[in-house]
Amino acid sequence: MNVMELFRLDGKVAIVTGGSRGLGFWMAEGLAEVGANVVLCARKLEPCEEAAKAIRDIGVRSLAVGCDVTDPDAVKALIERTISEFGRVDILINNAGFIWEEPPEKVSLETWNKTLAINATGTFLCSQEAGKHMIKQRQGKIINIASISGLASVDPELSNTVPYSAAKGAIVALTRDLARKWCQYNITVNAIAPGYFATKMSKYLAEHRQPQLMNSIRMKRLGTKDEIKGVAVFLASAASNYITGQIFAVDGGTVM
Ligand code: NDP
Repeated sequence: MNVMELFRLDGKVAIVTGGSRGLGFWMAEGLAEVGANVVLCARKLEPCEEAAKAIRDIGVRSLAVGCDVTDPDAVKALIERTISEFGRVDILINNAGFIWEEPPEKVSLETWNKTLAINATGTFLCSQEAGKHMIKQRQGKIINIASISGLASVDPELSNTVPYSAAKGAIVALTRDLARKWCQYNITVNAIAPGYFATKMSKYLAEHRQPQLMNSIRMKRLGTKDEIKGVAVFLASAASNYITGQIFAVDGGTVM
């Protein structure tokens, strides 16, 4: 296959959780730019609908679905709606995430549970439901959004987010083991572990911890839209068909 064709996703159907803004929206744009139809979900429907309109402007089909990834019934409904509208699901990007900053000795059980639920449980529930269809199709690409916090410790002067690190570490382990289980169905499961990108989630760090942030990033700058969407397209495309169970740090040399 011609190398440009390897990266095309014409006619493929992708779901991006947390696709209404930030990294999720950027990756959704990337998939759409190479031809995929994209379903976006988030808890708030209105921003999701605006995002879906922007995706349609690229020239593909797009659908916005209100869905809390921690709610099993809502996740089932998301996948059913995708199947009824598009007939299949080829790509799932588990991107919805939540972070809470507090010293570990002060973190409440409620915060711990919420952080694990949105990041880790949501990733599992969406993978399980989409996976049922991918197994029948004997084809699928699951891309989990972890974090470098799931790969290495973080200086407390930079951020204090132990439940988030634990949840992202769970996503790393889930990625490897689910990949092994679903190899037999021709489903690849990989993860992207982003470093620091300028989104709503990282705004506080960028505004209040700039020296500590720049000290940790060897490239001395935040990541940009182009630097995440290309990796997402690669992992969603035939160019990565022989890669599974891998974690790709995209972090300007923060974790080496
Ligand atoms: P944002 O906070 O900008 O966006 C988060 C998205 O997730 C929104 O669309 C939000 O919409 C959605 N979301 C949150 N909770 C839920 C839920 N329970 N169910 C469904 N959707 C939900 O975050 P980023 O774009 O920065 O982060 C995206 C992913 O990348 C996250 O997993 C994050 O942990 C990871 N990441 C980000 C980094 C960064 O530097 N920005 C670094 C490392 C990892 P709504 O609120 O309407 O539900």
